[in-house]
Amino acid sequence: MAADVENVIIIGSGPAGYTAALYTARANLKPIVIEGFMWGGLLQQTTEVENFPGFPAGGIDGPTLMTKMREQAEDFGSRFITDQATSVKLSDEPGGIHEVHVGQDVYRARTVILSMGAEHKKLGVPGEQELSGAGVSYCATCDAAFFKDQVIMVVGGGDSALEEAMFLAKFGRKVVLVHRRDELRASKIMQDRARAMENIEFKTPYVVESFLAGDGPFKRIARLKHAATDATEDVEIGGAFIAIGHEPQSEIVDGVIATDDEGYVKVDGRSTRTNAPGVFAAGDLVDHTYRQAITAAGSGCQAALDAEWYLRDTPQVPTPPSLEESGDLAEAQWAPAAETA
Ligand code: NAP
Repeated sequence: MAADVENVIIIGSGPAGYTAALYTARANLKPIVIEGFMWGGLLQQTTEVENFPGFPAGGIDGPTLMTKMREQAEDFGSRFITDQATSVKLSDEPGGIHEVHVGQDVYRARTVILSMGAEHKKLGVPGEQELSGAGVSYCATCDAAFFKDQVIMVVGGGDSALEEAMFLAKFGRKVVLVHRRDELRASKIMQDRARAMENIEFKTPYVVESFLAGDGPFKRIARLKHAATDATEDVEIGGAFIAIGHEPQSEIVDGVIATDDEGYVKVDGRSTRTNAPGVFAAGDLVDHTYRQAITAAGSGCQAALDAEWYLRDTPQVPTPPSLEESGDLAEAQWAPAAETA
């Protein structure tokens, strides 16, 4: 158990988490960021980011952008724990003290900013899990090089799918983009760019029924079903990339903080306040709609300001003695609201 009670603990390290860290650090709140092992969030898996303001002439690559955000937060005194938060114990009392557990270590704080982001959605079809990392991937920038000169399938019809398809088209002999509707969800500019590439084939409206291992190191089979006629077809591919969106990483607050049916953390109106006093949420963890690096960064800023104002305006529940000082008795006297599994 860490003896001190911190002002703010930030869980998560995408644009929301690092922006919250920057703002709370500049407010002299000395934030601790539990940033995970793979810090930087989903932008670590992206190539060029052309729509984050401030980077003309080709944009900036995702990992560089995240490294710069981290450095900027560090410059003002943010502290980083490069490990995974495993559970939380939240006080339901305004001004109370929350706990964030990182394995055996416990960090305590008056405010917590949740910014765990989102992860790649799975298709949930037979063979997907079995071939994951062995022909089925969720990250073209990570795995494209394995599929040089192969036929590569991309599943999805949004901007991510087209971005992946265009990136993979530079490696593979051919990219087959499979989407469940004839109409793509992706923006017009992305559609125009992808359609201009000769080695991208659009296969719609089809759904993937299953993935099967083929009879060679770079041979897999995607069994497709026509969405209207139900006719099935086997396509021989080197590998498949799934790009069908994301799901929020809210497991550690499941049952503790109010979430919606899809697991997104609920916040109060336009604020970042959750239903627990002193606990705020930002970024893709709360955002069904926009899910952009810039909107995540903006909501990280909001969460930092909400936390700062909460600390300023909320009378504090007295600090309990640390476990080192008084053993288990202190924990028994101070009953937290709820605990995650
Ligand atoms: P998205 O816009 O939600 O698109 C997800 C796609 O996957 C949709 O076409 C959807 O089909 C399909 N899909 C979802 N579940 C499926 C399932 N179970 N089986 C088959 N297909 C399924 O997600 P995204 O492409 O990841 O983009 C997220 C946000 O990031 C968007 O706002 C996007 O504009 C943005 N983004 C921008 C850029 C860029 O500008 N460079 C790059 C990447 C992402 P339906 O269309 O039928 O629903």
